[in-house]
Amino acid sequence: MELIVAHDRAGLDKARSSRSVALVPTMGALHEGHRSLIRMARAMGEQVVVSIFVNPLQFGPDEDYARYPRTLAADLEICAEEGVDVVFAPSPDDMYRPDRQVSVSAGEMGTIVEGAVRPGHFDGMLTVVLKLFNLVRPDIAVFGQKDAQQLALIRRMVVDLDLPIEIVGAPTVREGDGLALSSRNRYLTSDDRHAALALSRALRAGAAEREPSAVRAAAREVLASSSLEVDYLVLVDPATFAEVPDSYRGEAVLAVAAKVGSTRLIDNLPLTF
Ligand code: AMP
Repeated sequence: MELIVAHDRAGLDKARSSRSVALVPTMGALHEGHRSLIRMARAMGEQVVVSIFVNPLQFGPDEDYARYPRTLAADLEICAEEGVDVVFAPSPDDMYRPDRQVSVSAGEMGTIVEGAVRPGHFDGMLTVVLKLFNLVRPDIAVFGQKDAQQLALIRRMVVDLDLPIEIVGAPTVREGDGLALSSRNRYLTSDDRHAALALSRALRAGAAEREPSAVRAAAREVLASSSLEVDYLVLVDPATFAEVPDSYRGEAVLAVAAKVGSTRLIDNLPLTF
């Protein structure tokens, strides 16, 4: 089947079938991480829709919205290779009316950890994801564990707003040396790229420990001896993103964010205590 590219909601409506639909929302500049999500969607849904939209609402005024990589031709090739049925690539004007008023609030959970560094980011992200859900009407939507707080908030939105969609989380795809794949990696100079390895090294050093306090200490030590400008290193409950106590037993996420040169990267590892 030919890949259908829909640039607006009318085109999407025409392309959407009544079969079970699996959606992979992305901002484009697709890499192997996105490919793994698409493969998961391909295995779970009869029709696979990939959305490509750099969402202005989730970028702060001093962030990289204008320079975020836009590589539609290469993205379409990847989608065709992976057997995607429909790519939905709307323009900002098609997504947002100039007089729009109503949006989604991520609540308090949207103001902690990543949300504390990027005010409004999660409100903007949830607003576009809800709009994509309403436009595509998927049965299943696949998101990466790479953006762990995003995944947790989308699961919360689906529960809190009674959305009839199954949310699937996909493991983080990494380079051989541990660097998590990210569309922003293409900003890195070779020195930056080398420095960025401290992120995954810190997470692995933490994961080798058995108690929350030792996990935090081991990861912090690696970061302290790096050249990274660290925004946060936290060990949190994956459902709430609240810090876990030292006596904690159960699932946790060790999450880190740091600037490498002018590029801000995030990474995390799921852990069990
Ligand atoms: P983005 O295009 O960066 O908004 O990401 C689109 C989706 O791909 C999100 O659900 C991300 O969590 C996921 N993703 C990004 N990087 C990776 C990766 N390295 N491995 C797996 N999924 C990823």
